[in-house]
Amino acid sequence: MDKLKNYINGILTTPYSNNYINVHDPSTSEVFTMIPDSNAEDVQLAVESAEKVFPEWSELPVEIRSGYLMKIAELIKKNLDKFAHAECMDNGKPLWLAKSVDIPRAVKNFEFFASAVMQFSSESHMSDNVALNYTLRQPLGIIGAISPWNLPLYLFTWKIAPALAAGNCVIAKPSEITPLTAFLLSEICIEANLPGGVLNIIHGYGHTAGSAIVSHPKIKAITFTGGTKTGETIAKIAAPMFKKLSLELGGKNPNIIFADCNFTEMLETTVQSSFRNQGEICLCGSRIFVERKIYEKFKNDFVERVKKLKVGDPLKDDTDLGAIVSKQHFEKILYYIDLAEKEGGKILCGGKQVKPEGRCKDGWFIEPTVIEGLPFDCRTNQEEIFGPVVTITPFETEEEVLMMANSTEYGLASIIWTENLSRAHRLSSKIKTGIVWINCWMHRDLRTPFGGMKNSGVGREGGEEALRFFTEARNVCVKM
Ligand code: NDP
Repeated sequence: MDKLKNYINGILTTPYSNNYINVHDPSTSEVFTMIPDSNAEDVQLAVESAEKVFPEWSELPVEIRSGYLMKIAELIKKNLDKFAHAECMDNGKPLWLAKSVDIPRAVKNFEFFASAVMQFSSESHMSDNVALNYTLRQPLGIIGAISPWNLPLYLFTWKIAPALAAGNCVIAKPSEITPLTAFLLSEICIEANLPGGVLNIIHGYGHTAGSAIVSHPKIKAITFTGGTKTGETIAKIAAPMFKKLSLELGGKNPNIIFADCNFTEMLETTVQSSFRNQGEICLCGSRIFVERKIYEKFKNDFVERVKKLKVGDPLKDDTDLGAIVSKQHFEKILYYIDLAEKEGGKILCGGKQVKPEGRCKDGWFIEPTVIEGLPFDCRTNQEEIFGPVVTITPFETEEEVLMMANSTEYGLASIIWTENLSRAHRLSSKIKTGIVWINCWMHRDLRTPFGGMKNSGVGREGGEEALRFFTEARNVCVKM
């Protein structure tokens, strides 16, 4: 079996420990490759190579850095099918989804920041004709980037591209559950002749390789996407070292449906926002609140529509939901479905493991599940499940639904369906989430600030926010 390698100092390397970790295809449960079980020694090598190349990389004319990013984007695009197959095998998501969303978005991340950095400017302030101040924005140095398994290349490149564009060197760790596209990215960087050490990709566990990145004193900033608990652990290590931190964490997003909405459009989008990528998108709306007047109609139409979704082989074009990413996550989701029943919830559809025939018979599949009858403050409605499970709850008034929507520790995203725009704006300003979608879901303009409130995160990514995060702002004051 082929073993994947780390990418350090521009070359593919074996891990210092010489130990490897099995990687499973969730649609069959079979082990299909192995990745380095890296540790602090591998991270140290990466830091040394990044340190060496940083002066040269950070001082390159911005057009040249931008050119490298464009070249990487072009090569990913050229290999789109290969990347999409890898993402599908690693994560269990439908191949069509990887082809149409994940990989094109990774390409866009490089293209977008290659272009954004060319427009990046900074402020100047004239102080009463006495002094001119200008803000010098310089790269931070070496950045640690750690990403999760749900949108592997999409989120990995969302961090790497702006950090490199701004002139930093990066040491990045993908989730050990979904490392394959990150490895393919190493091969692409070699083909693009990216100078050695500018980007280093280290594979391994979070508690070893990830932790070594977070605690290395020469790594100046950490950009992390993952669970809230892990974010807390990272903050505890990084904060006393005064590292810059960007934490994109968990969510429990409300989807609020008023009776005056465009029902057809809402229904179609709500099926997507509930179950796209097996519900394993941090932006999925897992708590659906429906105005009492249309509750029964919504319930019947929604359940009828959800029952038609096909769960099974991610390679098939007509598959709506593929496999759950790992056995551990599969068991966690089933645990929560069981908990929902114990808490008094009624399962309207789904709730069980799916055992497809043929090649996927041993894979980890779960039916899309809709549950009603739960109080808004029970564990099922407060804790992140991150799978194909939604609850539906009726509401009477705007005040009531706002209270329920804001009742969790999370504040990542929300969705509001209404044709009453005054109400939509009023609610948007009161709902405690970093992103509010009105009459839509997952429209992403890469220039906008992205991130969560409360325990869903600290800091913002996207557009100028990202370029600002990855640079140090300094004030230069010149007396006139
Ligand atoms: P985890 O927090 O378990 O892991 C995320 C990454 O952190 C992985 O690479 C992991 O490695 C690594 N890691 C784990 N422990 C440490 C540590 N002590 N030090 C450094 N790195 C560590 O999240 P999941 O991968 O399970 O992803 C799912 C979570 O991500 C959900 O909560 C979801 O909401 C959130 N998410 C948030 C998004 C947002 O934009 N706000 C977007 C997408 C997902 P390893 O795999 O080895 O554990």
